[in-house]
Amino acid sequence: MQKNNCKLCGEEFLIDDEELALLDKLSPTVGSVKLTIPPPTHCFTCRSKRRLGWRNERSLYNRKSDKSGNDIVSMYPQDSEYPVYSSDEWYADDWDDKSYGRDFDFSRPFFEQFAELNAKTPKVALLNNNPENSDYINRAEGNKNSYMSFDLGWNDSILYSRSVYNSDNLTDCTFCRKSSFCYECIDCENVTNSAHCINSTDLSGCNFCYNLHGCHDCALCTNLFNKNFCIENKQYSKEEYTEKIKEFDFGSKQKVEDYKKRLSENMRSCVHRFANNLKCENCTGDYLENCKNVKYSFGAKNSENCRYMIDPERGKDSMNDCSSGGDGAELNYEIIGSGWPYNMKFSNASWHCSDSLYLCFCQNCKNCFGCSNMKRAEYCIMNKQYSKDEYEKLVPKIVEHMKSIGEWGEFFPLDISEFGYNETVANEYFPMDKKDVLKNGWKWRDKVDNLIPTSDFQVPDNIRDVKDDMIEKVLVCEITKRPYKIQGQELAFYMKQNIPIPHKHPDQRHHERLQLRNAPKLYHRKCMNDGCNNEFETTYSPDRPEKVYCEKCYQDNVI
Ligand SMILES: [Zn+2]
Ligand SMILES: [Zn+2]
Repeated sequence: MQKNNCKLCGEEFLIDDEELALLDKLSPTVGSVKLTIPPPTHCFTCRSKRRLGWRNERSLYNRKSDKSGNDIVSMYPQDSEYPVYSSDEWYADDWDDKSYGRDFDFSRPFFEQFAELNAKTPKVALLNNNPENSDYINRAEGNKNSYMSFDLGWNDSILYSRSVYNSDNLTDCTFCRKSSFCYECIDCENVTNSAHCINSTDLSGCNFCYNLHGCHDCALCTNLFNKNFCIENKQYSKEEYTEKIKEFDFGSKQKVEDYKKRLSENMRSCVHRFANNLKCENCTGDYLENCKNVKYSFGAKNSENCRYMIDPERGKDSMNDCSSGGDGAELNYEIIGSGWPYNMKFSNASWHCSDSLYLCFCQNCKNCFGCSNMKRAEYCIMNKQYSKDEYEKLVPKIVEHMKSIGEWGEFFPLDISEFGYNETVANEYFPMDKKDVLKNGWKWRDKVDNLIPTSDFQVPDNIRDVKDDMIEKVLVCEITKRPYKIQGQELAFYMKQNIPIPHKHPDQRHHERLQLRNAPKLYHRKCMNDGCNNEFETTYSPDRPEKVYCEKCYQDNVI
């Protein structure tokens, strides 16, 4: 066991023998030279921030393409230093990624040279594959009629949501799968016609509920399995419930605020399972599903023998990865947002790539080093073509140079990220204020809102009093004071689902949903059930008010 202090925040972190063995396994061989990866110098949080600070999902801008001059939607604003092409223009073969190639200069740091190369190569405006009527979505594949939603796959009509798959008609939802007609739901699967439900599966017609499974027609309930017609965990007959539920007015903003308060009180007093892990073996972390030997990870699915992961899917023998995955995703280290990566190290948003190091936004590349925005390349260094022999000689030399100045083993530093910290997922999982971000030498981009609020306009309390002209009004967020509008499709959803007009900006709504989920950090704690001495790793910090139980006590008391 090694004890280290984080080079950035100073916090102590441990590196055990299992981790050192995995690092050895992950160290790549180029030609006949093994490039040994040294132990991490940053703690889990600082490493995760450094990778996530390269992933802008939700900060979108209207701008011109630098290739055609056409109007496009992009992750990069008009005044960004990078050239930006529309997706079709970027994937076309009429520009030469190798024309940006350059020699490696052994008198200068690698990251400095990489930043110069990366500033010149064209960037793809958005990662939005096969969209239909969905220009304002990002990190998305196969979506229809969706707007301002991110990390999406195979959906229809998703508004202001994040991490939603195989669903339709969701507004303001986060981490939902196979669900329909839901509003403000978090971590739900197979849920229909429900609102304000958290950590729930197989529901319909439920409102303001936490941890319900296989239930229908319930309100303000917690920890129920296969129950119907319950209000605040009290069982009613179908007839009684039908009468009782009429006393609720889910269309009134004021009433909804009251129900939200009652939900949070109910969540505070109910028993919480130490971790939301499903079908896992020998794992520590939270929101893990179908994983084996996955340690200190969050939101991992179908993964095996991994450590320090955030939201990976099908990862194997990998460490320090955020939001990557796909069949054959193996032997990856310090990567982010990469699909189908194999033996990839220190890389960002590089898809179908293998056996490469330090790639940024590359596609279908193998055996490459320090390349930016390349397609189908092999044996390239800094976008310059080499022979196999030359490549295998030069890469170990560059690594030796990086070792001598302390760059080897580190991910791309945040001061050369393409985005402001607050534009990225880093700020969603690990929020920081502007002052601290700038103090670290990282970037920040102030939000510029061009809408002018409609004067003297009061949003009606109840959705039944809202008129169609609502979509012309510019509202002001009651928390951040940022202006925002209600879209036509959104208004139709609220009217159909009997939901009051939100009084907060979509970014604030997203932020508040994330606050309802524990931050990605583990604490060693003891079961709070009287007489039980079981210990566990949990995301509930010791100062939290909830009753946190071990698996056995949770099973005995709740199910
Ligand atoms: Zn740290
Ligand atoms: Zn216990």
